[in-house]
Amino acid sequence: MSRFWSEITHTLVPYVPGEQPRHQRLVKLNTNEAPIEASPKVLEAIRSTSGDQLRRYPDPESVALRQAIATRFALDPAQVFVGNGSDEVLAHAFLGLLKHPQAVLFPDITYSFYTVWAGLYGIACRQVPLDEHFAVKVGEYAEPNGGIVLPNPNAPTGILLPLEDIRRLLQANRDSVVIIDEAYIDFGGESAAALIPEFDNLLVVHTLSKSRALAGLRVGYALGQAELIEGLNRVKNCFNSYPLDVIAQRAAVASLEDESWFRAGCNEVMETRAWLCGELARLGFECLPSAANFVFASHPQRHARELFEALREQGIIVRHFARPRIDRFLRVSIGSRADCEILVEALEQLL
Ligand code: PMP
Repeated sequence: MSRFWSEITHTLVPYVPGEQPRHQRLVKLNTNEAPIEASPKVLEAIRSTSGDQLRRYPDPESVALRQAIATRFALDPAQVFVGNGSDEVLAHAFLGLLKHPQAVLFPDITYSFYTVWAGLYGIACRQVPLDEHFAVKVGEYAEPNGGIVLPNPNAPTGILLPLEDIRRLLQANRDSVVIIDEAYIDFGGESAAALIPEFDNLLVVHTLSKSRALAGLRVGYALGQAELIEGLNRVKNCFNSYPLDVIAQRAAVASLEDESWFRAGCNEVMETRAWLCGELARLGFECLPSAANFVFASHPQRHARELFEALREQGIIVRHFARPRIDRFLRVSIGSRADCEILVEALEQLL
């Protein structure tokens, strides 16, 4: 390691992303990407972007995109913040919590980037254990805190909290920012965006990476009352982070305008999920109840790591987390029905 940079840089624990293979044709069920391609309207918006549009800098405020998002959620554009993927939006939101003297709360089993950002920015955090069924214990988030970050559904469990629980959480924490990361909300959940008029402390974060099949485009956004969004804008402008590029802004607008493609895509994922959970149960797996585009499954007789490696050898990649409590699980993204059938056949041979 370099003798330069500071002690803190050397002790940081970076986020480990899922593998993105470059050369092999694999059945790829490891990073929760969509099994189908984005709406044809998105592809058309990309193709029809002119040289003249590319010659110019992008709109720094993504006005057309923020308007399209606001329309979808019956909000005002001043209540919408956009970023290069929801990861960037969340990174800014974490920075917004930086100067708070109290610890930020999030579940102990959750999206692993949260601890990375907290570590990077030096934000004190406390991880609240899940219950014995891996569900978030909403009642345990009532102590004074410097903010709450909760993915709903949670990752990698896929378990959804009902909107009433989110409301209770917001009511019990009126003096803290509550960030609900809804990366997977479109696969059977109800968005907390409906609660924004009631709660000035609520920030809802969405992505176009999953339910809109645009992980490669990098578009995410946050919804909240104008004052909260204004705070995020200040963080962003201090950070000099880049606006969305011209193509991303145009394509994202086209995606948000294609509601029928969106509904059909989400339904397809939910149908395949139901089928896959049934097949995994038939093979003896226990699946946590998933409202996401992945399932978290464990087999009482087989080590998840061994299954993960045996599948890998056959060109099927899923995700395994070497962490206490969840190392007996495999996380399987909901791929196409054909890819899920290949997985089930491979597991049938292995078990
Ligand atoms: N939140 C959660 C819970 C996720 O699983 C992911 C995807 N890894 C993200 C946010 C980030 O998604 P993106 O940056 O592609 O919008």
